[in-house]
Amino acid sequence: MFTFSFFFDIQILEGALTASRFVGFHLIDLNSALQVMLAHKHIIMNLVIGTSTVLLLWILLGGRTFCSWVCPYHLLAEWAEKIHLYLAKKKLVTDQTMDRRLRTVFWVIFALLAFATGYTVFEAISPTGILSRALIYGPGLALLWVLALLFFEVFFSCRAWCRYACPIGLTYGVVGIISPVRIIYKLDGCFHEGDCRKVCLVPHVLDTVIKGRAVETEVPIGPDCTRCGLCVDTCPTGSLSFEVKGLTKLA
Ligand code: SF4
Ligand code: SF4
Repeated sequence: MFTFSFFFDIQILEGALTASRFVGFHLIDLNSALQVMLAHKHIIMNLVIGTSTVLLLWILLGGRTFCSWVCPYHLLAEWAEKIHLYLAKKKLVTDQTMDRRLRTVFWVIFALLAFATGYTVFEAISPTGILSRALIYGPGLALLWVLALLFFEVFFSCRAWCRYACPIGLTYGVVGIISPVRIIYKLDGCFHEGDCRKVCLVPHVLDTVIKGRAVETEVPIGPDCTRCGLCVDTCPTGSLSFEVKGLTKLA
C-alpha cells in the first residue's frame, strides 16, 4: 500500500513504516516517536497522537507481530538464516551467539545518542527504515549497510541484528506483554521432540517445551514471540496454538 500510494499518487497511505498518514490519520512507529522526542527534548503532541494509534493497533495484534508480519528486514534475515544454516551444515560457518541483554544495552545507547546529539541516529542505520524507504522511493546507498548486516548474519552470527541489537523489536516485545494475542503451549500430548524449537526464529521463548521445564499444564509463550505461527504449523500433536486471551482459540 505504501508503494502503490506513492507510485500512483493516490494518497491512501503516505510516508514509510517509521511515520505515515493513513487516509489522513497520523501513524508513527513507537520507537521513532521516542527517538524524535528525545532528540527534540520535548513532547510533540502530533507524535503522541500518531503513536497512540499505532500502540493500540500493536497491543491488539500482538506486539512483535510487527517483526514477523510487517518488518521487511525480517524477511531478508529469514533468507540469510537459511543460507547460514546450509553453510553450518557443511561446517563452513559456526553461529557466534551473544548475550541477548545486548539488545537492552543498544536500546539505551540509541536513546542516549538521540538525546545527546539531537539527531535520530538509530533511524539512519535501522534496516527496517532503510528497506521500507527503498521499497517505496527506490534504492539508495544505505542498502550497502543492510547488505553488510546480512553478510554478518550469514557468516558470523545468525539473526544478530534482531536478536542482539534492534530496539524496535525490544519495544514491540514490551507491548506484547499486555497483548491478548499469544501462543499457548499445552503440556498434555507434547512429545518434547522439539520440532517447534527448530523452526522458531526466537527459540528461547520455547524453552518451556523442553522436557521437565513446564510447571503448569498450559503455558503462554513469552512476549518476545513474534506470533509468526511457524511452531503452530509444525507441532505434530497440536500442543501449540494461537489464543486471544479471554476469547476463543484461533487455531
Ligand atoms: S527485531 Fe527489528 S529488524 Fe528484526 S524483525 Fe523486528 S523490527 Fe525488524
Ligand atoms: S515459532 Fe512460535 S514461538 Fe516462535 S516466534 Fe513463531 S509463533 Fe512465536
